[in-house]
Amino acid sequence: MKKVYLDYAATTPVAPEVMEAMLPYFSTSFGNPSSVHRPGQRAEAAAEDARSIVASYLNAAPSEITFTSCGTESNNLALRGAGMAMKHSRKAAHILTTPVEHHAVSKTAEDLAKYYGFELDYLPVDLYGMVDPKDVSNKIRRDTALVSVIYANNEIGSINPIQEIGKICRQAGVLFHTDAMQAGSFLSLDVDELQVDMLTIGAHKMYGPKGVGALYVRKGTPILPIQTGGSQERTLRAGTLNVPYIVGMGKSIQIAQEKKEELTAHLLPLRDRIIKLLIDEIPGSQLTGHPIQRLPNHASFVFEGVDGNQLLMHLDNEGFACSSGSACKTGSPEPSDVLLAIGLPKNLALGSLRLSLGRHTQPDEIELFCSALPGVIEAIRKLR
Ligand SMILES: *Cc1c(COP(=O)(O)O)cnc(C)c1O
Repeated sequence: MKKVYLDYAATTPVAPEVMEAMLPYFSTSFGNPSSVHRPGQRAEAAAEDARSIVASYLNAAPSEITFTSCGTESNNLALRGAGMAMKHSRKAAHILTTPVEHHAVSKTAEDLAKYYGFELDYLPVDLYGMVDPKDVSNKIRRDTALVSVIYANNEIGSINPIQEIGKICRQAGVLFHTDAMQAGSFLSLDVDELQVDMLTIGAHKMYGPKGVGALYVRKGTPILPIQTGGSQERTLRAGTLNVPYIVGMGKSIQIAQEKKEELTAHLLPLRDRIIKLLIDEIPGSQLTGHPIQRLPNHASFVFEGVDGNQLLMHLDNEGFACSSGSACKTGSPEPSDVLLAIGLPKNLALGSLRLSLGRHTQPDEIELFCSALPGVIEAIRKLR
């Protein structure tokens, strides 16, 4: 049976060039980058090279890049670190976010509200899960500590108008963070163009290793560490640098930069083929997220009278690896917060399917999938 992987939004395979770039830093060049001796300096040089690559991809300065252990940590550092700094120094404790964030942002914001005296407020989203910049203007207050809006949605693929939101925050003098974990391979991450103060990025959705990420923090942004200890990362994130993974992240971003246009050109027609075919051929199906303002590798749906988890298991039996909503939620019977926030009723939200394509996706795999899905859906509906 042919195996078809359609879950690149959950994670991607590590590119062979990335793996190769990482390997020496486990063995021959294993030094601690904080050490004074040559092995240490070699490791430091490698980490700094990676930092320069990440910085250049973001049009930032290397000193504005902080390496972390993952996208989740980067989001925590942005919200907790900048939130605490704003609360401590300016008595600003109002956090403005959206109901369609990844849990790494939404649960962190909830935690800050529950235990650390922050006031949490939500920007409305439309039926595509997108924010209207005008609502940002209306909702910003004098005591707003920060605004956090997801760039490209992991569950429904919609792309938010980050640049316009950034402009409004800048004019109001309010810190603006975006979670760009899904955007990395496809969209502009130019932090000046986007007018963001903080931006989350990670390697494992971009053909790099799991367990490494970065947070861009614009020079002058008030931010406190959430992990204290040594003086690594300009004391913003203590702990010995994970040199092999950081090197891997650098390499994966270098490749992403080189292949950006090619990858989009490869995936757009495949994505559109899936969307057209499934909507045409499966009764009671609906695209979730914006039809055009969406990631070029992302197609997401809800199906009437179908249990999403059951659908995933049936598809897995047929050799298709897909997801419903975000990977972190798979297995739980609760409907996704994101799908409820865009106004779907609970029963429809429970019948969700996310297909995300990548570098290795081939047209014949898409045809195979599109010919299999209608039968699988019909079979599940008959079982009820
Ligand atoms: C994957 C993802 C995260 C979490 O990143 P990890 O590196 O897995 O912790 C956060 N936000 C979005 C939008 C994501 O897609």
